[in-house]
Order: sequence, then C-alpha cells, then structure tokens
Amino acid sequence: ALPPARRFAVLTCMDARIDPARALGLEEGDAHVIRNAGGLASDDAIRSLVISHHLLGTQEAFVIGHTNCGMETFSNDELRETLRERQGLDTSHLDFQPFPDCSERVAASVRRIRESGLLPESFDVHGFLYHVETGRLEPVDA
Ligand code: ZN
Repeated sequence: ALPPARRFAVLTCMDARIDPARALGLEEGDAHVIRNAGGLASDDAIRSLVISHHLLGTQEAFVIGHTNCGMETFSNDELRETLRERQGLDTSHLDFQPFPDCSERVAASVRRIRESGLLPESFDVHGFLYHVETGRLEPVDA
C-alpha cells in the first residue's frame, strides 16, 4: 500500500454537496478521505486515522464540517420517532449523534482525535468549516 502523496487525511461529512477533491484541490493518490454522517471523530473514524498514520505515514488530519449540515436538523428522539412511524423500525439503541452547532462539533472532533492517545503529539489535527455556498474553508479553533 502506498502512502498518500500529500501525507494527510481528511475527515468530513458524507453530504453530497461536498466534493473533497474539488474543495481541497486533491489529485488521485494525494490523501486519505474518511467520511460519515457529520464528519464525526467516531471510534471508526479514529480507527481509520490510526491506520492512516501508523501504517501509511500521514502526518496530519483535517476535520471538515460544513454549513447547513443535515445533522443540525433533527434530534435523536425526532429521528427515532420518524423511523418508527414511517418504517416500523426500533432504533432506540442507535445514537445518531446529531448536533446543534457544526463548528462546535468540529472542535470536539479535533479534541477527541488529539486526546485519543493513539496518535503522536507530532500528528497535527486541524478543524475547518466548509461554507457550501461559497466553497470557503474557515478555520475552527479547537
Ligand atoms: Zn453534513
């Protein structure tokens, strides 16, 4: 397996309006891209970052949330109720991890990665908010 040429990993939301390659000017082979609903530093995202760094040599990660994220539009209770009513599904055991403020959630994800103890101090983690309307990347303080 070849290390990514630009030695970084991107953790971002699965939102279809975000094309990480276009937004960040990436070419094939440049970076690892890890995606999930909300771009959260879940256990599984951290698992991928550990592999990205320790096996494949990335030296930093960019956590990128975005404006108008769908994860800001529902609560756990609302989504569970919707799925129960419309689909007859019991999702009471699932935490969908919605959030009210994307920038705060990006900052929390950056801290969660840093504090995981699974990546060295030298592994830089940066947070950004991607503005879907303009394509601007705004740094987020962790
Ligand atoms: Zn989103």
